[in-house]
Order: sequence, then structure tokens, then C-alpha cells
Amino acid sequence: MTQRFVVIGAGVAGLAAARALKLGAPSAEVVLLERSERIGGLVLTERTPDGFLLEHGPDSLLEGKPAGMRAIAETGISDEVVSAPAGVRKSFVAREGRLYPLPPGLISGRASATAMMTAPLFTMAGRARMAMEPFMPQREGTDDESVASFFERRFGQEMVDRLIEPVFRGVYTTPTTKLSVRAVMPHLAMLEQKYGSLARAMASRASLSGSDSPAAPTVVTLRSGMGALPTALARALEGSIRLGVTATRLRRTPSGLTISLGEHGELEANGVVVATPAPAAARLLADLDPAVADSLGAIGVGRLDTVTFGFWRKDLDHPLEGTGFVVDANEKCALTACTWSSSKWVGRAPDDSALIRCFLAAPGATDEELVASARDDLRALMGIPLAIKPRFTRVWRLSQSLPRYEVGYMERAAETLERVAQLPDVAVAGNAYNGMGVPDCIASGLAAAARLLGTTEPAPPPAH
Ligand SMILES: Cc1cc2nc3c(=O)[nH]c(=O)nc-3n(C[C@H](O)[C@H](O)[C@H](O)COP(=O)(O)OP(=O)(O)OC[C@H]3O[C@@H](n4cnc5c(N)ncnc54)[C@H](O)[C@@H]3O)c2cc1C
Repeated sequence: MTQRFVVIGAGVAGLAAARALKLGAPSAEVVLLERSERIGGLVLTERTPDGFLLEHGPDSLLEGKPAGMRAIAETGISDEVVSAPAGVRKSFVAREGRLYPLPPGLISGRASATAMMTAPLFTMAGRARMAMEPFMPQREGTDDESVASFFERRFGQEMVDRLIEPVFRGVYTTPTTKLSVRAVMPHLAMLEQKYGSLARAMASRASLSGSDSPAAPTVVTLRSGMGALPTALARALEGSIRLGVTATRLRRTPSGLTISLGEHGELEANGVVVATPAPAAARLLADLDPAVADSLGAIGVGRLDTVTFGFWRKDLDHPLEGTGFVVDANEKCALTACTWSSSKWVGRAPDDSALIRCFLAAPGATDEELVASARDDLRALMGIPLAIKPRFTRVWRLSQSLPRYEVGYMERAAETLERVAQLPDVAVAGNAYNGMGVPDCIASGLAAAARLLGTTEPAPPPAH
């Protein structure tokens, strides 16, 4: 009988896994099951008839994480890669109704001391406390701690309140008092361990590079949108993808594994990659290993709603110079972040128009309420009058998709992976394990495929 591998979930992790299985075991049958009617999962690009290009999920990826760029190269879409236009990397924090520029390079841990100490966002007292960072004691031990606790120890509470909380709440769906520093900024925790102080670490790096402000990691996108990546990954999977099919249960049988597909019957497999979000993975793995299911079930999942507006450029007085802003948690706003997509990337809107994407935290709100909140907040923070009619509005709601990286998360994820590794014919992949970024998810898909194929390296790169 032909060997059959089944991958559950056609997000970037599942697509990368299925592709690697197909190319690594050409004689085997590979089936990729996807609950929805399209591939890509959280990656979703929309092109409107009047020339806008909208990203409802990720709009970029980090060039420095090799799995993403390798997948792009191997699937033959390197000519799609574009960097941000020069000079628009500026972003802001909304606080007390004003937009303050963010010190450049902060998130990457590469902000220069000068940029931090001159940022208008901070008071004199706040700056004085930040300047004390080299003299703050190094933390004993290497246990995980919250992002808020890490920055409070090193730089003081003002930095947490005015910068760290707004920035992280705009990216992760978890307050920084719960967010794990080891999960989201392991490099900073390591720098503290190595140099005793982040300022000393920066100074040491700067003296090596000869600059006060080493280059930030490059973020790139794809010209025709991030959706080009799942499409390219799927090219090797012709005839293998089954859309509109939900896997409900995975159980062991004398002949291998059996996957229940509800009204679509059952499917037998010699190996399975579960590449769904954590809650679905917990349900699927409950029969095979209840402990794995419990630990996956304990991963909190966040929700994230976005509202995107296309405006006529002439209707907006705002210069839109930069990539957008994040919002201080004390601001009376539903908005947590806002991307000026047509400034951030070239080709996202016609020249006479602007594309603005709002991220909101408004649990229980209807679509109409979300749009109304976003408009209120854009009026308050960017001066866009409610009377201005957008060319179009799109609401995109995401729940149960993004894991909450709470303190201790990495240990739990490692334990889960260790337990799954005891199952000879099952692997897991996706954003619940080793990072949320698109390249991390691709890497986890490749690792899952390699495990089922019994190779240590991801399957060899083929021609496109
Ligand atoms: C708004 C937003 C912006 C983001 N921005 C960025 C960014 O700029 N850069 C970046 O690198 N990352 C970004 N991310 C994160 C990144 O997009 C995701 O972490 C990544 O795409 C997740 O991929 P995945 O394959 O693990 O999961 P998913 O994309 O969630 O795919 C899982 C798939 O499994 C399917 N599925 C679920 N249950 C079943 C079942 N029982 N049977 C069959 N199929 C099932 C789902 O329908 C889905 O298609 C962003 C995320 C969001 C939401």
C-alpha cells in the first residue's frame, strides 16, 4: 500500500509541511485537509477592483529569519520581495490625543541611547531613570518573567507605561504584565545575562559596528501581497489539497492512524502533521495523548479584529508620514494600533487614495460598532472627520487564532513538543510552538515534515 501522509490545516505551517512531505517522499501520497474554503489561514490578501491591495493578516516578514526567505526562493517568487520605501520607518505612540514618535530600533533591541534619551515621549524623571539602567542589578537566575517586569527592572515604570505596553499590546494580544519575555524577546534577556546591562550590550555592539545605531532587522513584503506565499507553496501540492474538510478526531488503529472527517468519512494515514491553532490541535490529539491535549488546551488564545478603510487622499489633512501608530493603554480608545498601509508599502492604494488599517480590542462589538469605534478613534487621533466617507470599509475578525505567549510559555511549548516527539507518527506545527511570525511557522512545518520523514534537516529544496 502507498504510504500516506496527512497534514491538517492549510496555513503557512501546514502548507510548508505538506510541500516538504511531497517533495521529500515523492512516492507517498500527501493529503492536506483545510476546514475553510481557501488556503493560507491567517495569511489573506485581497485586491479590490479599484486598485487597493489589502492585507487582512500579516503584511510583512522578517528577512533575518531564514525559513521565510528560503521558502520564497525555493518557490520561485524572490522577484516579489520588496522592502519598505526609504524614509518611512517612523512610527508613533498615541498618548493624550497626540502622536509621539517612537524611538527607532526599540523592538529589535537596537535603539540607540541617543534616540531613547531624546524621545519626546518621556519626562525628565523618566529619562533619568532610564539613564540608570547600567547600574541596575542583574537578575539572578534565568527563569522567565513578564515583559513589563523585565523593562521595569531595567528602565523604570514610565518606559513600560508609555512605550512597552502600547507597542506590545499592538502586536500580541496579551498585557505585558503577563507576556513572556523569553517568548517574545529572548535576545534581550540573553543580553542582560551576558553584559549585565542592555545599555552596555548596545555600547559594545555599537563599538563593534562603529555606529551608535546599528541597522535594524529588515522587514520585507511581497509585491502582490503576502497571499503570494501560500499560493506559491501550494504549487507543489496539486491534487493534494482538500478544502472545506474539518478533521474532528485522530485515533490509533491497528493499521496506523485514522482521521475522522465528519460528513466526509474517515482517512487512514501512516503519518499526520497537526498544523491547526492550539485549541483545535488539543481536540484532535485528545485520544492519542490526553496530556498533550491538556497542555495545548491550556494555551490561551487571543482575538484580534481589524477594520480597513480606503479614503480619497484629498479628504485627509494628515501627512501619513510613517508606518502608523500604537496606542497607549490609558487612552480611551478601542484602537490598539493603526497601520498607514499605503505609506508603509508601495502599491497598496492608487495614488489619489490612502489605505488605513485599524487593530481593535472590542470584545463583543458588532461589525457596525467596530467600524464606528475605529472612526471615532481616527477622528480623535488623526483628525479624520466622521463626515468624510471612506471609499470602502472592510472588517476582519480573528478569534482563537493567535496564542497568548504568557510567562512560562516556552517551557510548556517545549514540554508539549517533547511529548509529541514520543508519538512516532504524529508531529505538530504552527504558531503555538516556536514563534508566531510567518518564518517561524514555516520553520515549524518543515521540522514536522522532517520528523515524519525521519530526516534531521528539512526536505531538500527542489526546483519550483
Ligand atoms: C492581523 C495579523 C497580523 C499579523 N502580522 C504578521 C506580520 O506582519 N508578520 C509575521 O511574520 N506574522 C504576522 N502575523 C502572525 C502570522 O500571520 C501567523 O502566526 C501565521 O500566519 C500562522 O500560521 P499557521 O499556519 O500556524 O496557522 P493559521 O494561519 O491559523 O492556519 C491554521 C489553519 O488550520 C485550519 N484548521 C483549523 N482547524 C482545522 C481542522 N480541525 N481541520 C482542518 N483545518 C483546520 C484553519 O482554517 C487554518 O487555515 C500576524 C497575524 C495576524 C492575525
